Order: sequence, then structure tokens, then C-alpha cells
Amino acid sequence: MAGRNFLFVPGPTNVPDRVLRAMVVSMEDHRSPVFPELARACLNGLKPVFKTTTGTPLIFPSSGTGCWEAALSNCLNPGDKVLIARFGQFSHLWADMCIRMGFDTEILETPWGEGAPVDRYLAALSADKQHRIKAVLVCHNETATGVTSDLHAVRQAMNSIKHPALLFVDSVSGLGSVDFRMDDWGVDICVSGSQKGLMLPAGLGVTCVSQKALEIAKSATSRRCYFDYRDMVNSNAGGYFPYTPALPMLYGLRESLAMIAEEGLENIFQRHTYLAGGVRAAVFEGWKLTLCAAAPRWYSDTVSAVMVPEGINAAEVIARAFKRYNLALGAGLSKVAGKLFRIGHLGDLNELMLLGALAGAEMAMLDVGVKIEPGSGVAAAQTFWRANSSVAASKPAASTQAGLAA
Ligand code: PLP
Repeated sequence: MAGRNFLFVPGPTNVPDRVLRAMVVSMEDHRSPVFPELARACLNGLKPVFKTTTGTPLIFPSSGTGCWEAALSNCLNPGDKVLIARFGQFSHLWADMCIRMGFDTEILETPWGEGAPVDRYLAALSADKQHRIKAVLVCHNETATGVTSDLHAVRQAMNSIKHPALLFVDSVSGLGSVDFRMDDWGVDICVSGSQKGLMLPAGLGVTCVSQKALEIAKSATSRRCYFDYRDMVNSNAGGYFPYTPALPMLYGLRESLAMIAEEGLENIFQRHTYLAGGVRAAVFEGWKLTLCAAAPRWYSDTVSAVMVPEGINAAEVIARAFKRYNLALGAGLSKVAGKLFRIGHLGDLNELMLLGALAGAEMAMLDVGVKIEPGSGVAAAQTFWRANSSVAASKPAASTQAGLAA
């Protein structure tokens, strides 16, 4: 098909040219005396992204799922109790992993479209007088439903009753795009991946571990080998990895961290809020449709899950967008399959890129019979952005900077 592919799934996201170029490297010896320079740039460069000075970032050649497993296997003993809310496919998969790894898993069933139920976390922890719950698991940004949760409130709930459990957070589709504060929010393990806000291909599991969690990992008895934090921390101390690292990805990560530092994390968050506002204007004001996210306080600035009207199969919208317009939209997963399509708006992107996605979604919806006004979403997004343009004017988007630097 002529023309470029428009990648608007909520990860993998578009990789900036500057990062792509940085990854075109010859292989080199990962035990050489100069290698630690690269490793340290990546590991230290991740600290501000996690907003930590006391936590330890770790990079596994895996994806986010590997870091879920690492969190569970490093810090828990066999059969330990964990508490997790399930409100989308990714919180479901993490809960499922807990069960499959043999942990006693208390699941707070929550409607898909809502975020972490802080009051129910508090109630479950308050009822746990013996402190049997060893880890509280929360999905920061549920990519399946486009819902962001209030992590700080979960930590405050834990602190209010002095519950000693560890706080494990999945910020696979939040980190580097929306605010996340490892230290301020008392997060013990944050799990993320390379292919979303970090603007890299998939292939790195990126995680950060608190001192408390690292201490517990020293004596936790769950079996692990490849994902053992202790081996990783020991090797990283010298600037190396316990096994062959994904070298081009590390070069890419160093570059993407430089881009993040140049744009500034707070500017990046603002850009995501501003761009997401345009998408939401398209959905609500233009198309007169709804989001899966049930209330504004849960709206995600990285992904919007758009509900299609009764009688329309969202899978047809997605198929039409892909086959006819070369636009990749995210599918509805499991419970919400066929009911919604997702627009990813995270990573390296700006208004015009998003307008392409909105126009493509609009045309695909019209083609399969959704009754919307042609141009209505695109117009509503433009109107929103024009009214809020002072927000975006503060700093050019990452891609623009890449262009200037090139
Ligand atoms: N958690 C969330 C919120 C995700 O969006 C994803 C993937 O999209 C995962 C976990 C799984 O991560 P990965 O596919 O990198 O293993």
C-alpha cells in the first residue's frame, strides 16, 4: 500500500528517527572496559524518569511481563498473599500470573472502565490484621480500558493503617508519559517496558526497585534465576550485566533518555495531557461517542478506548482502518472485544500525527456504518488544541527536537 503506516496502537509506539539511528551500531564486547559507560548512562538516566534517588533501576532483556514475574519471584515467598484489583486485561494478566505462580491472590473485581478502588484496597488491608498480605499490586495505567489510577491514594491508604506490604506498580503504559513518582508515592517496585513512553522497540523490561524491596529480595525464597535481582544488581555495580545485554537497545535507550531530558519530563506530561484532550474532544464533541473510562478522573492521557455504538463491531472498524487506510488502531481485548477500539497517544507524537489517526478512525467508522459527521472529530480536536495552544507552545515536541538536532 502506498504511503506510510500510521501506528496508533498504545504500544509499541513510534520510534523517533534519532533513536532508530542510535541503534544502528556494530556489535561490541559487552565485557570491554568502555562498556560500563553505556550501561551507567542507561541505568542512571532512568532514575529521573522514575523520579527516584533511592530506588535502583534495572533493565532486563524481556518485556514488561518479565518484570511482573521478577517483582513476584524476587520479593515473595512461596504461597504468600497478594492483593490486586482487576479492571482490565493487563491487571487481569498480572493477577493470573500471581495465581499461576502459586501466590494466594485476593482479587478486587472492579468494573472495566473504573480505576483502582482505593476504598476497597483500604478495606481489604484493614481486614488483614495478621499482615498476611505481602504485596499490593496496582496497574497505574490500564491500557485495555484507557484508565489511569491514583497511585498516591493507594499508598496513603496503606500508610493510614501502617500496613507493611510492598507496593508493586505496573506503569508499562504510564512511565515517561504521565506523572509517576517512585519515591514520593512510596512505590517498592515499578514495572515498565521499552516500547511505550520510552519510545523504543519492544525488548527491554525496565523496572525500578526500592531499597526495602531489594532488602527483602535478599532473603525471599521463591525460585528465580534469569530474573534474579541479586545477580543483576551485582553485575550492574561494575557497569555490566549478568548475561549478554541487548546492545542496540541500550544505545537506543541512552538516546531516548537524552530526548526525554531535553524536552523535560513535566513538558512531556503536559504534551500528553494536551494531545489527549484533543482526542477526547473528537470522541465526545465530534463523534458524540463515549469512552470506556467511566469518569473524567480516570481518563488516561496515553490511550483512549472509544466505545462504538450498539450494533457495530469495533473489530470491523479496526480491520477497515488497517486494510484501507494503513492505520493501526488498538483492539478491544477479551471482555471488551468488539465493543471498543483504542487510540494510543503516547510517546513521540504531535497534533498533526494525531489528526491523521483521528481522520482515519473517522473514515473507517463511516465506512462500516457508524453514524458520525465526516470531519467532526478532526474539527473538535483542532478546536480544542487551538483553545489550549499555550500549553503546547512551551516546548517543541520530541520529534521536532529530533528534527532540529539531526
Ligand atoms: N501492563 C500493561 C499496562 C500493558 O499495557 C502491557 C502491554 O501492553 C503489559 C503490562 C505487558 O507488557 P509487555 O507486552 O511489554 O510484556
